[in-house]
Amino acid sequence: MAAKRDYYDILGVTRSASADELKKAYRKLAIQFHPDKNPDNKEAEEKFKEAAEAYEVLTDAKKRQMYDQFGHAGVIGAGGASGFEGFGAGGSGSINDIFEDIFGDFFGGAAGGRRGGGGRRRSAAQPGADLKTSVDITFEEAAFGAEKIITIPRAAVCETCEGSGARKGSKADACGQCGGRGEVMYQQGFFSISRTCSQCNGSGEVIKDPCGDCSGAGTVKRRTQLAVNIPAGVDSGQRLKLRGEGEAGARGGPSGDLYVIINVLEHDFFQRDEYDIVCEVPITFTQAALGAEIEVPTLKGKVEMKIPAGTQAGKIFRLKGKGLPRLGAYGTGDQLVRVSVEIPSRLNSEQKDLLRKFEAASDSSTHPSHHTFFEKMKGLLG
Ligand SMILES: [Zn+2]
Ligand SMILES: [Zn+2]
Repeated sequence: MAAKRDYYDILGVTRSASADELKKAYRKLAIQFHPDKNPDNKEAEEKFKEAAEAYEVLTDAKKRQMYDQFGHAGVIGAGGASGFEGFGAGGSGSINDIFEDIFGDFFGGAAGGRRGGGGRRRSAAQPGADLKTSVDITFEEAAFGAEKIITIPRAAVCETCEGSGARKGSKADACGQCGGRGEVMYQQGFFSISRTCSQCNGSGEVIKDPCGDCSGAGTVKRRTQLAVNIPAGVDSGQRLKLRGEGEAGARGGPSGDLYVIINVLEHDFFQRDEYDIVCEVPITFTQAALGAEIEVPTLKGKVEMKIPAGTQAGKIFRLKGKGLPRLGAYGTGDQLVRVSVEIPSRLNSEQKDLLRKFEAASDSSTHPSHHTFFEKMKGLLG
């Protein structure tokens, strides 16, 4: 066995190094030589263990004193015990705590499997990813609901190997490196360190004879047609979640979800205001003045609407219950019909004569707003 290096030299600190200096020096080395960063590198592994051992001893006041006095013999003497054992049991807990303190934030749970040794084998099954897609629907489809067929490219379970990833007739073997546990443990001083097996990435399985159709992945990309039920009352930007319709999971893992984002196309007549439908209808100025029965489009076809005599431009009429169904609630919105009044233009001489006659015959009772306004202005400005 090669001569052991001096603990202070290993950490690159002076013999009077403080606890903080030790921790800093060890952290640097541990990160540099950590097995996760140096897979299958024996030299790095040795350096990693060496640094851990040095740190372990030097951060313990009693052990450090023994080491300073007796050298390596003081802590791992030929006799084995030499006062080491006495605080070994109590000490290992605190060492583990320090170890976790140092690594906790850096390697996540990498320093975890220290006690009990049960291990946290990752399953070979991998959950499928969620998918997102959008679908265009008409105003009417949003109002009444619809079934839309969408096509999405997604990972599907490979039918050839039924998702196992192994060629038909064969199956995945337990990983030789970790014995199927998915992690490799090694002893270091008082405690053992486990890391995810680099051979099987923690799955515990290796596929020696992969399926030819999916190259061992267990899933294949496929364009899939899906019927999506669009509920009545949906609006642009809302998303539907289709549980389990995302990417298939690999090797028996659960499928992801599919999110369908709704995009409602513009309508020639209708706009939406929550669950009400807003519609603008142009009427002639004689209809506005004399009153009329007009036809108005609704989602369920044309309806007759009465325009009372003397209706002003911009007046809004409410058609009860002609709006959209309330999504997830009772009742429907209304349709709001806003009338605009079209002023006649490009008049012929006969039409002009008629209008001039009308103008001559009109007075403050036919146009009260007009008269009030100009009376007021006269009073103010003369
Ligand atoms: Zn396959
Ligand atoms: Zn393995």
